Amino acid sequence: MAMNMFRSVILGAPASGKGTISSRIVNKFQLDHISSGDKLRLQIKNKTAIGNEVSKYTSTGKFVPDDIMIKFIMNEINNARGPWLLDGFPRTRSQCEALWTQQPLDLAINLVVPFEVIIDRVKNRWVHLPSGRVYNIDFNAPKVAGKDDVTGEALTQREDDKPEVVQRRLEDYQMKTQPVIDFFREKGILEDFEGRTSDEIWPKVLECLIRHIPIQLTSQQNV
Ligand code: ATP
Ligand code: MG
Repeated sequence: MAMNMFRSVILGAPASGKGTISSRIVNKFQLDHISSGDKLRLQIKNKTAIGNEVSKYTSTGKFVPDDIMIKFIMNEINNARGPWLLDGFPRTRSQCEALWTQQPLDLAINLVVPFEVIIDRVKNRWVHLPSGRVYNIDFNAPKVAGKDDVTGEALTQREDDKPEVVQRRLEDYQMKTQPVIDFFREKGILEDFEGRTSDEIWPKVLECLIRHIPIQLTSQQNV
């Protein structure tokens, strides 16, 4: 039925809080979270034909070619039985067009976080490499500056978290994603959600989803 076929996508720059907002959405609503990166990593891990084919692109940070990507994700989408939230797809104009002809979306959620906020956030991020524990000087500081809470070992900064590298990744994201944003804006389904933190953005996203999604699809109704 049309009602339970709510179809959506989430867009957001690296470190914009896309992961946080996505997980809040799927906790609240019964949606399939279709993340292209996660789906590809699973194929690679299981050494499937697709996995073997795409690993040469993903391992060097290159886009997987459109024809492979479109076939793969459209298949995932067509297998979904209920409503879904896409994440990481579409990323190019032709992916947008292929998606739209088969599965027009109801909503594109665009997270808009000022670049200086993202750079600041990432700049203050320190990791304990052996364990993967992550600290943030602003809101999750280690007990002793520069040291891991558990082992006392030194914290380091990821190479790609350095401000000049982050700046470049953000510019790259904006350049590549602009055609996707334009596409959904032209279709009239793009909603911008602005804010400096996920806690600031989340209530606006929630309010919008409640307007769009039939009440019977909220998780609470089904528990
Ligand atoms: P994020 O910062 O959100 O984790 P990412 O750049 O690491 O983004 P993922 O979404 O995790 O990207 O995807 C990992 C890799 O999978 C990409 O670098 C790319 O090679 C491939 N990929 C994922 N989605 C697409 C897509 N829509 N089109 C082409 N390649 C894709
Ligand atoms: Mg990633």
